[in-house]
Amino acid sequence: MRRYYILTMGCQMNKNDSERIAGFLSSLGYVAVERPEDGNLLIINTCSVRQAAEDRVCGIVRNWQALRRQKTNMIIAITGCMPGRDESGKLRRRIPGVDLWFGIDELPRLPVWLKELNVEQEKNFDYLNIKPMRESHSRAFITIQTGCNNFCTYCVVPNARGRERNRSLIDILNEVRNFVVKGGLEVTLLGQVVNHYIAPDPESFSKENPFLSDHFAALLWELNQIAGLERLHFTAPDPQYFNAVQAEALKLPKQMNYIHLPAQSGDNEILRKMNRRYTREQYVEIVKKIRVARPNMAVGADLMVGFCGETDEQFNNTLDLYKECDLDISYNAKYSERSGTPAAKAFKDDVSREIKKRRWEELQEIMEAQALRKNQIYVGSIVEVLVENCEQGICSGNSREMKLVNFLGEPNLVDTIVRVKIFEAKEWVLKGKII
Ligand code: SF4
Repeated sequence: MRRYYILTMGCQMNKNDSERIAGFLSSLGYVAVERPEDGNLLIINTCSVRQAAEDRVCGIVRNWQALRRQKTNMIIAITGCMPGRDESGKLRRRIPGVDLWFGIDELPRLPVWLKELNVEQEKNFDYLNIKPMRESHSRAFITIQTGCNNFCTYCVVPNARGRERNRSLIDILNEVRNFVVKGGLEVTLLGQVVNHYIAPDPESFSKENPFLSDHFAALLWELNQIAGLERLHFTAPDPQYFNAVQAEALKLPKQMNYIHLPAQSGDNEILRKMNRRYTREQYVEIVKKIRVARPNMAVGADLMVGFCGETDEQFNNTLDLYKECDLDISYNAKYSERSGTPAAKAFKDDVSREIKKRRWEELQEIMEAQALRKNQIYVGSIVEVLVENCEQGICSGNSREMKLVNFLGEPNLVDTIVRVKIFEAKEWVLKGKII
């Protein structure tokens, strides 16, 4: 029996890649298992964004090697970000005992390596065309693009995933249509710079599409025409590519009422050193445009503290940006130097751990206070919830604003959209009653 176990680390993109790996392996006759000790093909889909994530991989591989000593036919494979950025082979040497070490784009070669298909058959596969095996019936992550050309100085992605590659419009539409036919309700488009999508097959856009001057906005319009699809979301756009046409497309009816717009810093000098190609002022302007297009839209960001040379004043500019843009949430990170990145070569990681921690905590505090305040506006109102879980009589799911909502309900509500009246708002959860 062929059994695989996948451990996924990192972002949504990696989660979607793991769904692709699962789909691919199931097409080869593999079945998934829930514990590594039950598998004979163990895969870690790695993240390289922080050193801690890479250190964790070393520990996991050591544990798996101990399992293998009791089970000789076990294969250990590493994919995701680590192989892609390991040009020098340093990481491979650091983690011995791994049988397969491949970038996610090389997934189609897996059968060859496993000696289960001959070399000719690999020509039929392309990473972007591999069908994912999804855990949820109602929600899907759809990759529209992989790789990145931006080279933010702190980031490993351009090395790990290579240059930007866009999926054909026709493939994206087919994947979404097939998902919706089977009961799918919500789609999240994934790409490293998702709003820089450029369709390789622009002739596939409908003639009546009003957004043809911007392929990403035009894609949103096409998806809005799919009957049965209820909610559309995307992550993550880059402020430098956000334009008036995209702002207009946010008004489309299936668009979620939440946008995640990474900012990273509120200080222009830090943004310049990060090679983020927008200024604080431009970011603020974009958020204003978004709120003009859709006044109730919740806005979230990624923010980083402790980047090389960041002073107290520069950090305060990030705090100010948070308040000025009245953000709903931010995913806050402490800068972690990654070998091989332009920042590691050009700058000193000279903000101490203690200062990074203190700044991160300060930012978290502001975020929590603001989230609590902003969530109060939902008290007394009715929100639409796509139910994801129901355990012991408590159902939960996200509203269109991506707020987690809990309410009393039955398991048969899972994978449906219900209306819930909110009676209590906390920082990270709204509590309500189904109506
Ligand atoms: S846009 Fe910047 S942060 Fe995002 S994947 Fe590309 S290089 Fe990395």
